[in-house]
Amino acid sequence: RAKAAGGNRFEFADAEADERAITRHGLTHALPAALERGEFFIEYQPLVHLGDGSVHGAEALVRWSHPQHGVLGPDRFIPLAEHTGLIVPLGRWVLQESVRQARFWQEKHADGGPLRINVNLSPTQLHHPGLVADTVEVLERAGLSPGALCLEVTESALIGADEGLLKPLRQLAEMGIDIALDDFGTGYSNLANLRRLPVSVLKLDRSFTQSMQRLPADPVDIKIVEGIVSLAHSLELAVTVEGVETGAQAEQLRELGCDTAQGWYYARPGAPDMIHSLVLMDAV
Ligand code: C2E
Ligand code: MG
Ligand code: MG
Ligand code: MG
Repeated sequence: RAKAAGGNRFEFADAEADERAITRHGLTHALPAALERGEFFIEYQPLVHLGDGSVHGAEALVRWSHPQHGVLGPDRFIPLAEHTGLIVPLGRWVLQESVRQARFWQEKHADGGPLRINVNLSPTQLHHPGLVADTVEVLERAGLSPGALCLEVTESALIGADEGLLKPLRQLAEMGIDIALDDFGTGYSNLANLRRLPVSVLKLDRSFTQSMQRLPADPVDIKIVEGIVSLAHSLELAVTVEGVETGAQAEQLRELGCDTAQGWYYARPGAPDMIHSLVLMDAV
């Protein structure tokens, strides 16, 4: 087929695809040992209040320090871990580690307001029957109050979700844990559906933020964000924006009524000490 099409380009593309498949295969097999050997680590990216720029909390973002391939981002291995089910123990480790970290920040900044921690959950974790019990145990062991935890679930993971899937989320929400709809606006979900979901935060996808990069921003995008914010607020949901890279974007999104923001403009994901220093800066 590729030859008939007459190009080396196709063979080259095939070879590249083969190599990617081999790497994927190798990474998939290396995952369990990597977890045992402690090759994963977490970077934290601050979430700030758009009103005054103070630190609201941080999102935990997992990375894999691979002995041959160097540091790999989650897009390289989370789908593989999802596929094999390793996401359950890996996700539990991320939760445990980041909750412990959040408790540590809170102890260090007892008067600095309740610093919060956001942790991503993937669909397989949502389906896992131990989710609620594991989460309760992790919080209790670390001594972190449920109100300081926000679990992020993508909009696409909840599209068409039945009661069976929503029940554990509802239980977590009833305990005071915030549930955020991550990458909101990309999943074409029915907005009326929002009422049915036990969520308290909408995280507007980066694609919206991107269109605010050049000012004046596209008037249609502005109207869309305005509409989402007003709907969210009328349902008593907070709005977080991701991917804020410039001060102009931040200002525009603040004017549109968004509550909190996250992005390179404030800080790239980094070591836990970075959050510590940012909170100290707030305090002065
Ligand atoms: P996400 O939850 O939507 O996280 C936001 C992503 O945007 C992160 O990518 C972050 O580094 C990146 N980002 C933040 N600010 C900016 C910005 O200003 N500009 C740009 N261009 N990018 C920005 P990252 O760390 O590569 O994570 C990718 C995705 O992997 C996450 O998307 C999340 O869905 C998933 N993920 C990360 N950690 C975990 C985890 O522990 N468990 C699960 N299940 N998924 C995770
Ligand atoms: Mg997220
Ligand atoms: Mg997101
Ligand atoms: Mg996103």
